[in-house]
Amino acid sequence: MSTFRIAIVGAGPAGYFAAQALQNSQTDQLTFSIDMIEKLPTPWGLVRSGVAPDHPKIKTVSKVFEKIATTESFKLFCNVELGKDITLEELETNYDAVVIASGSSRGRKLGIPGEDLRGSFSAAEFVPWYNAHPDFVDVDIDLSCDTAVVIGAGNVAMDVARMLALEPSELDPTDTAEHALERLHSSSIRKVHICGRRGPEHAAFTSPELRELPKLEHTDVHIDQHQIQAAKDRAEAEGEVPKDVKSNLDTMLAISDAEKKNHARSMYFHFLSTPLEIRGNSKVEEVIFGINEVKDGKVVPTSETFSIKCGLVVSAIGYEAEEIAGLKYEGGRVLNIDGRVTGKHIYVVGWAKRGPSGVIGTNKSDSSDVVKLLIEDLKAPKNGADLGDILSKRGVVHISQANWELINQAEVAAGEPHGKPRVKFTDRKRMLGFAG
Ligand SMILES: Cc1cc2nc3c(=O)[nH]c(=O)nc-3n(C[C@H](O)[C@H](O)[C@H](O)COP(=O)(O)OP(=O)(O)OC[C@H]3O[C@@H](n4cnc5c(N)ncnc54)[C@H](O)[C@@H]3O)c2cc1C
Repeated sequence: MSTFRIAIVGAGPAGYFAAQALQNSQTDQLTFSIDMIEKLPTPWGLVRSGVAPDHPKIKTVSKVFEKIATTESFKLFCNVELGKDITLEELETNYDAVVIASGSSRGRKLGIPGEDLRGSFSAAEFVPWYNAHPDFVDVDIDLSCDTAVVIGAGNVAMDVARMLALEPSELDPTDTAEHALERLHSSSIRKVHICGRRGPEHAAFTSPELRELPKLEHTDVHIDQHQIQAAKDRAEAEGEVPKDVKSNLDTMLAISDAEKKNHARSMYFHFLSTPLEIRGNSKVEEVIFGINEVKDGKVVPTSETFSIKCGLVVSAIGYEAEEIAGLKYEGGRVLNIDGRVTGKHIYVVGWAKRGPSGVIGTNKSDSSDVVKLLIEDLKAPKNGADLGDILSKRGVVHISQANWELINQAEVAAGEPHGKPRVKFTDRKRMLGFAG
């Protein structure tokens, strides 16, 4: 029987699904010993620090992760960063294969003047702030203005806009970070504009997210009916409209038609609007947009512009992978061929491999395909050193699965009296205390 040692870097969905695929491939002759390395003191990746707090059902996938983690021959090493606490070369030396599942966490830049003004953020800062990511607790999100602009037309932009436009008491029974909840309760923001460069027919929102909007109890949602109808006409003129596009457009039409209730809070959609400049005297005061049109199926600029006065801008136009020493990157992703990182026993899965696209479930089939290649490439097992020993010699304190379970229980217990699923801890020192 051969037992191969596999290191998985990143405890997000792609990492766990890679571990699951390895576990499911075991036979009497072939077994795996898996060490999962995570730079944060807590696992679950974007399921903890990305998925919106008002979507608790999505987070139940963490039960699957915990089942994988409590299977024999799986060890969790949280608070261990590849590139800082251990090098890629060391992992290559000590493991039979290394799977990079480090995600894509740097926000893409708009590349327009004024982007660095105070009050202008990327969703890559704003989302982890409200989700209690320990590195983003101190991001100074000023919500003392009346109007916010969200740039982007995908589900992340929608999450951000919804978090800003909701009546904050709707977030009380969620696991929104305590510091963010406090700020949201005193927020002056009443108007949220969500702006996409292309037409409604090109928007990357998914229908379930759109269908949620009319259910917001304290927020009116405004969509220009003419703009959606024109998009529908364009799409139909091109032939059969893809099912997801049709569903999106029909949902948007229904929202545009719905009665407005004169709520104090409102959300406005603007399509075919490219941000050209963020203006302000030391802080954000206004965003200038160029108006686009669709000509022969292409989005092209017109000479017209409009502007929105606002005090907060959040751009949600995609993510790029944070670079790790020893890996090559292209287009914001780890350079790879079908998940193989050329020339070494290194593989890449999830958003680090594909870029920031796909829902949690997409990572399951992706990781499983890459694990098939990994297994094909295996030769004879190595006799590598124990990661726990390497780290303790280096004075790196890691959070094991048992330690994490204590943190998890403590967070859930802290939430219980308040009717919340958990109160997330944000202080690394406090969490490291659970490592004994
Ligand atoms: C804001 C947001 C909301 C989303 N909402 C939904 C939703 O509602 N439903 C849905 O299905 N999908 C949603 N998604 C998509 C989903 O989160 C992704 O498909 C999925 O998380 C990608 O998995 P991953 O494992 O590749 O990356 P991640 O989940 O990002 O996990 C990567 C992990 O690697 C760790 N890491 C990074 N660098 C290192 C290093 N050097 N050393 C050690 N560890 C490292 C990170 O800390 C992280 O824990 C959302 C995404 C975002 C951004």
